[in-house]
Amino acid sequence: MTHDLAAGVERVRDRIASAGGDPDRVRVLAVTKGFGPDAVEAALSVGLREVGENYARELLDKAEALEVEPDWHFIGRLQSNKVRQLAERVACWQSVDRASLVGEIAKRAPGARILVQVNATGEEQKGGASPMDVPDLVGRGREAGLDVAGLMAVGVFGDTAATERAFHEVVALADELSLPERSIGMTDDLELAVRAGSTMVRIGTGLF
Ligand SMILES: *Cc1c(COP(=O)(O)O)cnc(C)c1O
Repeated sequence: MTHDLAAGVERVRDRIASAGGDPDRVRVLAVTKGFGPDAVEAALSVGLREVGENYARELLDKAEALEVEPDWHFIGRLQSNKVRQLAERVACWQSVDRASLVGEIAKRAPGARILVQVNATGEEQKGGASPMDVPDLVGRGREAGLDVAGLMAVGVFGDTAATERAFHEVVALADELSLPERSIGMTDDLELAVRAGSTMVRIGTGLF
């Protein structure tokens, strides 16, 4: 597994470079949802320190099973009542999209690092705050003492033009709000994200 994964990381770094990004500056978040603790161990063994999970239960089970834990990033839909259990584990909360969640994280994990998730594509079923509401959420996070590091967004599956528009909007918004981290780009739209100014791509199927 480690051997294949090392090759996968190399491929991802090559794709980042081909899209005009610096592979030493665009970080790779290894997304291990659906895989066991061994995938996380493999990620750590090839130098990927940051690992993303979508589901609270899965993250907690893997964390329990591991001797050495990565820097966990929570990237899935987050219910407020899961924050308490996750608080000791999570290094970065990437899917913060409403004021109640800002409040709960500030209470359970004071000073924690968060990203505000933006829904820049207008799809109703998708997580994320509307771009209009993002400045308020960022302000609330800062006021609550959280380390608001940046924005996160997901593109539109199968729609290059809409994804490109969304990524550019997210980066412009991050610029406006002086937020350095832009977590955009997955396996299928990595190049679009890097060209728009991604600082972190979240890769699952491209690695595992
Ligand atoms: C699953 C997931 C990823 C990884 O997607 P791949 O297409 O497997 O690279 C990234 N971000 C989020 C929010 C996800 O849910």
